[in-house]
Amino acid sequence: MSKHEILKRYFGYDTFRNAQETLIDSILEGKDTLGIMPTGAGKSLCYQIPALMMDGITLVISPLISLMKDQVGSLNQAGIHAAYLNSSLTASQYYKALGLARQGRYPIIYVAPERLITEEFLDFAINSRITMVAVDEAHCISQWGQDFRPSYLKILEFIEKLPTRPVISAFTATATKEVRDDIIDILQLRDPTVMTTGFDRGNLYFGVMNVRDRYGAIRNYLETHRGESGIIYCLTRKHVEEMCRRLREDGFGVTKYHAGLGDEERRRNQDDFIYDRVPIIIATSAFGMGIDKSNVRFVLHFGMPKNLESYYQEAGRAGRDGEPAECILYYAGQDVITDQLFIDNNQDNQELDPVTRQIVRERDLERLRKMTFYCFTNECLRDYILKYFGEYGSNYCGNCSNCLTQFEETDVTEIARALVGCVNTSRQRYGTTVIIDTVHGADTAKIRNYRMNQNPFYGALAKAPTYRIRQVLNHLQLKEYLTVTNDEYAVVKLTPNSGEILDREDHRIIMKLAKETERSGPAKEKRSKKSQPGQESFTEKEKSLFEQLRALRSEIAREEKVPPYIVFSDKTLTHMCVVKPGTKAEMLTVSGVGEFKFEKYGARFLERIRSAQ
Ligand code: ADP
Ligand code: MG
Ligand code: ZN
Repeated sequence: MSKHEILKRYFGYDTFRNAQETLIDSILEGKDTLGIMPTGAGKSLCYQIPALMMDGITLVISPLISLMKDQVGSLNQAGIHAAYLNSSLTASQYYKALGLARQGRYPIIYVAPERLITEEFLDFAINSRITMVAVDEAHCISQWGQDFRPSYLKILEFIEKLPTRPVISAFTATATKEVRDDIIDILQLRDPTVMTTGFDRGNLYFGVMNVRDRYGAIRNYLETHRGESGIIYCLTRKHVEEMCRRLREDGFGVTKYHAGLGDEERRRNQDDFIYDRVPIIIATSAFGMGIDKSNVRFVLHFGMPKNLESYYQEAGRAGRDGEPAECILYYAGQDVITDQLFIDNNQDNQELDPVTRQIVRERDLERLRKMTFYCFTNECLRDYILKYFGEYGSNYCGNCSNCLTQFEETDVTEIARALVGCVNTSRQRYGTTVIIDTVHGADTAKIRNYRMNQNPFYGALAKAPTYRIRQVLNHLQLKEYLTVTNDEYAVVKLTPNSGEILDREDHRIIMKLAKETERSGPAKEKRSKKSQPGQESFTEKEKSLFEQLRALRSEIAREEKVPPYIVFSDKTLTHMCVVKPGTKAEMLTVSGVGEFKFEKYGARFLERIRSAQ
């Protein structure tokens, strides 16, 4: 079968996405291949399809049990024999699976990296024909990556023990150069084809909200998004617990996930979410890798993550099915302090020598700074993210809270002069609060103790509201007119650019400020209200059909003991409502319906559509 036939027959898709074809062809030519694509881009197909076309076995190395389970579940649903070998199997299950593998039953086998160089597994591998080793989530091999797994270092050792070297393919969503170079070096890829695709996720809306009552804002959000599946990330376990309790009291169906819960409870809660038994999960960053749930419609952050890599990864769990989804970060000033504590107490760095540890720490603080600017910037948020990852954006995406807020250019030179002047005359010794209080003319014990009430700029901005002064101070940092030290004191310092404000009369500071007082308020109304994704134009009848198909999907998912999205994605159901197929041939034109799934469920869906007409 050709790659297009496999795509259609097993996966039910008509066309390959951007880079998929190049990567598949490269593997089929026998070349080592590295694919760097954002979450949801469709990396799995890039090794699954060649695996089905090559003779011999493909081993897929994957870091998490839940990930393997999900992928093998999907493959089995599509009618492909696949298995996983990891610690979730009992000894007898393991030997049974290994026995079937020896008989050549599985073209694709997922295996945990820890298993690779165990005696039984090696014996199997050496005596079988392993034609490809596909390393999924390959950034786990790099100490510079987010999720370093020492066991990934065993992959090369394993490959070296094989009688013939298989093709090696590797996939990740982490785009930084350090990680990419590490993957190539450590796996010793030979003259690999390297494909990086754009990091933009056009279907995701990005928003930053700086509101006083963050809990209230999140509750309002959930009220207008009833029935949708979403994740709420919190910085600490305590916040998870509290958010969960309050939302339950307010009548929302939520569950929780963090490292402080027992294995059993964690697994149960995660399954409740994945199987759509509970629409919303509240979690720390411990949750997510291995969650391929495709119909997550929103990811809210209660608190700012410690870097944009983490943020984009977590936010990116929304809208994997390509349908519109929203990622909103609810930010408050104290988040920075929490993040700094995380960085200072990072256990992973304990084994590093002091010099390296210091370098890592500084790098982490720099990343945190860039993350903070994401919350301050008034430019296009998508553009900010893409630039961070080394891509060019378009300055205007029309689908983020900044692009949808009306700004006006405001001359803030007077405020800027007072702030820089105050830092200068107080000899760069104080933190942001003291500086702001001084120019604002606050009469507090601290200000009197520091004698800042005698500073020439004391009360210079008595009329300006503090939030505006803070905005300008943030802007001055963003534009590097001022900087704040990376230590616990967070002292405001001058920079080489400060002179332009201090010395040059004619230098104006212009800043984009939201016309409305609450910066993120207006964006909402301007966006089309979405009920379910892609259904803006649905008639009442189609909406009701969608609900019926969804109910049928849940029914089947329960029978098959798989998550509903593995039966059919939301996108596929939406497409069915549009096409309203009456025959097998028509049903097969629906995106996501392949031959095998049609054989299994096609009749039931056709019947349901017919009876709804
Ligand atoms: P990644 O591993 O890159 O995050 P996945 O492999 O999990 O992404 O794929 C994400 C989703 O995209 C899945 O639901 C998958 O079925 C779907 N998908 C992959 N390739 C295509 C394609 N060519 N056409 C339509 N959907 C696709
Ligand atoms: Mg993946
Ligand atoms: Zn934008």
